[in-house]
Amino acid sequence: MLQPITSLLGDIVDLVFPQTCAACVDSKPVQNGIFCISCLAELPETGFHQIEGNPFEAHFWGRVPLHAGAAFLFFVPDGRTQTLLHHIKYRSRSDFARTIGAFYGNRLKSAPRFQGIDLIIPVPLHWKKEHQRGFNQSAEFGLGLSETMSVPFLKTGLQRKRYTQTQTKKTRAERVSNLKDAFVIKDPKEIRGKHILLVDDVLTTGATLEACALALLQVHGVRVSMATIACGRL
Ligand SMILES: [Zn+2]
Repeated sequence: MLQPITSLLGDIVDLVFPQTCAACVDSKPVQNGIFCISCLAELPETGFHQIEGNPFEAHFWGRVPLHAGAAFLFFVPDGRTQTLLHHIKYRSRSDFARTIGAFYGNRLKSAPRFQGIDLIIPVPLHWKKEHQRGFNQSAEFGLGLSETMSVPFLKTGLQRKRYTQTQTKKTRAERVSNLKDAFVIKDPKEIRGKHILLVDDVLTTGATLEACALALLQVHGVRVSMATIACGRL
């Protein structure tokens, strides 16, 4: 039987540019355009999107009123999630962030708690940092989510006005005060009354996501949900 021309072209593209698995980075055949079969079977998925009051949401209790929150994968040192994040951030594989967004978007699309989202907004990088890296990994992830969830994506909804220093050695109180007023809404009219999915690459302390959500929630009628590629132990 004759193969359709598009599938033949796809085979040729795969021969010339073999696809790499985003989790083990071997040149094995990949499923869904991102993971090899063995990685797909062993992905450390959290399943949080199906669970109300999950550890991601509990992390923000008393800090930010969230509609729903979830991370796709658990971060395990030396594991597949770390490999994936390392390639996104330090080897310029922005395509992995976008593909993982599209992959996770399919999960969120069928989760009752993530219905009714009007807009996806990424945690912004300061423009200097984005210029150095060449892309914002959170924005690429958000773009992928937007594609499969069929929800509009607004990259510039939030802007980072200060170049914040590394947060890792600060206490929680210091982190929060360091980030206070670091984010501004570009145009409140664009987000008024909307249910916004705020997206980032990793949830660690949550100080950045908290500051961004508090900025969004200052606009009338806004509700906030959150999604990240990964989270550490919460
Ligand atoms: Zn793999």
